[in-house]
Amino acid sequence: MTGPTEFTAQLTESAWLDRYAGALLPVFGRPQRVLSHGAGAHVWDVEGNRYLDLLAGIAVNALGHAHPDLVAAITAQAGRALHYSNFFTSLPQIELAERLLRLADAPPGSAVFFTNSGTEALEAAIKLTRRTDRVRMLAVEGAFHGRSTGAVALTHKEAYRAPFAPLIPGVAHLPFNDEAALRQAFAADTDHQIAALFLEPVQGEAGVLAVDPGYLRLARDLTREHGALLILDEVQTGVARTGDWFAFQRDGVLPDAFTLAKGLAGGVPIGALVTIGSPVTALLSAGQHGSTFGGNPLACAAALTVLNVIERDDLMTQARVLGEHLKAAIAGLGHPDLGPIRGRGLLLGIPLRRPVAAELATAALAAGFIVNAPNPHTVRLAPPLILTTQEADSFVAALPGLLEELQP
Ligand SMILES: *Cc1c(COP(=O)(O)O)cnc(C)c1O
Repeated sequence: MTGPTEFTAQLTESAWLDRYAGALLPVFGRPQRVLSHGAGAHVWDVEGNRYLDLLAGIAVNALGHAHPDLVAAITAQAGRALHYSNFFTSLPQIELAERLLRLADAPPGSAVFFTNSGTEALEAAIKLTRRTDRVRMLAVEGAFHGRSTGAVALTHKEAYRAPFAPLIPGVAHLPFNDEAALRQAFAADTDHQIAALFLEPVQGEAGVLAVDPGYLRLARDLTREHGALLILDEVQTGVARTGDWFAFQRDGVLPDAFTLAKGLAGGVPIGALVTIGSPVTALLSAGQHGSTFGGNPLACAAALTVLNVIERDDLMTQARVLGEHLKAAIAGLGHPDLGPIRGRGLLLGIPLRRPVAAELATAALAAGFIVNAPNPHTVRLAPPLILTTQEADSFVAALPGLLEELQP
């Protein structure tokens, strides 16, 4: 057998991290651990320490690690074929596209374009807007839509944008959840140059901030009135994460297009742009976009299995029930450092009254819990949808002690 040497090599974790530093571009900083494997909601590092994974690779491992159904599906597909190119198609690709359209209640004429990541799904959406006869795009403050030179223009964070200026022009960021500002932006668009408004139903990277349902409905009305596209970025919120197949379904708002990625194939790289209705679908025609790997049978078979397991095991209900349980249990601690928990389903933000989220995440890791700090005042939880109540409770029980460890 040939394979990763980490299972047999005797190097310490810090020796592996030195080798990492000598070989990898330093954009991610020093990784927190060198991981060796996972099972269910747990992962292990190369020194044998076990962690409860409450981040799931940033909302990716929807079925946890090494889920038997996913392992079986990937293994079976690998034994058949990994890749054919888009000169050909395959049954998993067609079935997955049909399944996504059905789950979204998409009207006839709707369609799917598969990518390998969320960013690429946003790139496809940006190209879609370019096929309208308009050039401006609206997004909101705090937005995260990816890091490619196109997608980063929609992303709000200055530190991600500034080093790569000039970005594609014509993007404006409106104050988040500000209805007056949204009305104003469209009222000012007298020459009808706004092609699209991009929104995340729940902003994950900004610290788990939900769009108000009223704001989303207003966004739907205004974009429709002005002939602009409403494009929802469900890369983080989609595929049962928030307790619905897609977060927009709770608010009863059907966008013109939406993007998926993270949880869709449970860890196998995949992304998708879904266009709603024939006029939107018709914006991109043969030859105007493409991908070598996008829609390959391995990723599509994995995604179909993720959707099957979510349905079979009713993980959408699990996401809702466990999310509410976690919210209530954390609130029940009555801890003075904690604010009211934000988020929906199993995408949760724990607000801290002091800017110690990074320190708390570090303390949690040392205690065997993986969480993350999207900003100094928020700890984010995006655990596998297969997390048990008991596992969730073990974190809640540890939380007061972890807060205790931090400097006052
Ligand atoms: C993660 C994320 C992206 C980018 O996805 P990648 O797979 O990292 O390219 C885009 N939009 C949202 C909302 C995300 O959470």
